[in-house]
Amino acid sequence: MSEFSDRRVVQALIRSAQPPSREQRERFVKFVAHNYSGEIRLSWDKEESITDGFILQVGSDLYDWSLEGRIQQMKEAIENVADEPGVPITTLIRQKIESFQLEAMPREVGRVLTVGDGIATVDGLSGAAYGEILVFENGIRGMIQDLRKDYIGCVLFGDDGQILAGSRVYRTHRQAGVPVGSSYLGRVVDALGEPIDDQGPIRADDYMPLEIAAPGIIDRQAVNEPMETGLLCIDAMFPIGRGQRELIIGDRQTGKTTIALDTILNQKGNGVICIYVAIGQKNSSVAQTVKILSEHGMMDQTIVVVSSASDPVPLQYIAPYSGTAMGEYFMNQGKDVLIVYDDLSKHATSYRTISLLLGRSPGREAYPGDIFYLHSRLLERSAHLSDEMGGGSMTALPIVETQAGDVSAYIPTNIISITDGQIFLESDLFFSGQRPAVNVGLSVSRVGGSAQTKAMKSATGTLRLDLSQYREMQVFTQFDSDLDDLTKAQLAYGQSLMQLLRQSQHSPLSMEEQVVVLVCALGHKLQNYPLEEVRDVRARLLQGMKDRYPLIMNEISEGYKLTQELREAILLACDEILKE
Ligand code: ATP
Ligand code: MG
Repeated sequence: MSEFSDRRVVQALIRSAQPPSREQRERFVKFVAHNYSGEIRLSWDKEESITDGFILQVGSDLYDWSLEGRIQQMKEAIENVADEPGVPITTLIRQKIESFQLEAMPREVGRVLTVGDGIATVDGLSGAAYGEILVFENGIRGMIQDLRKDYIGCVLFGDDGQILAGSRVYRTHRQAGVPVGSSYLGRVVDALGEPIDDQGPIRADDYMPLEIAAPGIIDRQAVNEPMETGLLCIDAMFPIGRGQRELIIGDRQTGKTTIALDTILNQKGNGVICIYVAIGQKNSSVAQTVKILSEHGMMDQTIVVVSSASDPVPLQYIAPYSGTAMGEYFMNQGKDVLIVYDDLSKHATSYRTISLLLGRSPGREAYPGDIFYLHSRLLERSAHLSDEMGGGSMTALPIVETQAGDVSAYIPTNIISITDGQIFLESDLFFSGQRPAVNVGLSVSRVGGSAQTKAMKSATGTLRLDLSQYREMQVFTQFDSDLDDLTKAQLAYGQSLMQLLRQSQHSPLSMEEQVVVLVCALGHKLQNYPLEEVRDVRARLLQGMKDRYPLIMNEISEGYKLTQELREAILLACDEILKE
C-alpha cells in the first residue's frame, strides 16, 4: 500500500526582472517556511516591469518588495498619519518617515476573469467579504456585490475600459464607506465623497461605512418635534415630524423636487442639516438645484451628493448610502438632519441593472427579489434617537416617480409600505394651476400629527374634512346647473380653501403665518372674495398681521395654545386688516 502524504504543497512564485541569486532564494524559502506550513516549491517568473526588487506570491498572498511596492507602503504610511492636537502635520510626517520600516505584509491578490458594463468578476480572493473594497492594478476601485463559489462579482467605481482581463486585484480589508465631516457642509460631492464643485479638497473628520445596521427600537424615541415644510397644504394636513420618513410620489413634472427643495429652504437658520442626494438626474437639473440653494443662502447647512445619469451605474447605486452615512455622522452628534433622496425610482433601476449584469434572476418587473429589503434597510436608518443616544434625528424625504399615476406598480407600493406616509402629487391638479399639486385624498402622514405644535393642531381643525366634502360635492354637482344656495355656498367655500392652499415655489410660510391663514379661512373670513383675488387677500392679511399685530404673531410662534381668545383676536384683526 502506498503511503499518502498529508503535507500540503506551498507554491511560492518569485517575480522579478533578474533571477534571484542562490542566497536570495534561500532567504525566500526561509521566509515562506516561517509563515506557511507545507512542502515549499519555489519558482521564478521573469517580469521586466519590476525594475528593482522582488514580488513574492504565495497562494493568493502577495509580498511586494519591488520599488513600486515599497513606495506604495511609504505612501500609505504617510496617508495614515493621524492628527495630534498641537503638533504640526509636517513634524508628524517627518517622524513617520524616520520610523518607516518596510514590512513583509501579505496582500491578498486575485485575478480579473471578465470585465464589462461596470462589473468585473474576480477569482482568487477566497477571504474577501461582501461590501469590501477591492483595488485593481490601475488604481480603480470596486465593491464586492456578489460572492459565488468560484468567483466574486464586483461593481466598479471607475471606467472599466482601463481594466484588463487577467490583471491583478488586491483586497483592502475595508468595507465600502465614505469620508464624512462638518467640512462637507456647503459642498457638492460625488457618491464617493469626492468634491466636484471646484472648491478644493475637503478634510474629513471620519470614515463611515455605506451600510450599517439601523438603530434598534431601544435606541429610538417617538417622533415629537415638527419638521416644518413651510408649505401650508403639507404642514396643515400631513405634518411631518423629525425622524419620520415621508414619501413624495407623483408623475414626472408634478413638482416633487420643488416640495423637497422648499422644505430644505424652510430650514434656514434653524440648525437642521440638509442633505440632498441626486440620483441619476441630468447634471443641468442638479446645477439648477444647487443654484437655488445658494441663492437662498442655504448651502452652508447643506451637502449635495450627486451621481448623475452619466456616472457609472454603481455610483448611482451607492449615492443614497453615501448621503445617509454623511447624515448619520451628524445625527450621532445629536443634530437634526433632513435627507432627500431624489429619486429612489432611479436608484431601483440602477440596482436592477447591476443585479442583471451580475446574473441574478429577475423577479417582478425584472427587479431582483431583494429590492424591497434594500430600500427598507436604507430608509430604516432614518430615526429619532433616544436621549441616551444623543437625541439626534434624521428625517427622510424619498421621492418616487410614478407612470401615469400608477401607485400600484412594484417600486411605489414597496416604498409606500416602508415609509410613514406619502404626499401624492397629481398631474391634473398641477396643470390646473393647483400647485403644490397635493392630492388630499390619497396623501397621508401617519406619525407627524403628534409632532405638530399645539396652535397648528387646533388651527387645522376641520380642514381635511371640509376639503373632502368639497371634493365629493364637486363630483356630484359637476353637470348640475341648478344648485340651491347652501350647496353653492359650500362649493364657494371649498374653492376658496383650495385657492388658499396654492403656494408659489420657494416662498415658505412660517408656522404662525399658517395658523393665521387657517384660522381666518376656517372662520369663513376669506370665502367672499373672487377666486383670483384670494391669494392677494392672503398676502395682505399676513402683511397686516406682521405690521400691526406683532404680539399675536409672537404669541403663536412661542408655542402658546390657540385659546378661544387668541382665535377671536385673530379673526378681529383679520376684519380690521381686510376692511380697508
Ligand atoms: P421631474 O419629474 O422632472 O423630476 P418634478 O416632479 O421633480 O419633475 P419639479 O422639477 O419640482 O417637478 O417641478 C416642475 C416644474 O414645475 C418646475 O419648472 C417648477 O418650477 C414648477 N413648479 C413646481 N412647483 C411649483 C409651484 N408651487 N408653483 C409654481 N411652479 C412650480
Ligand atoms: Mg425632480
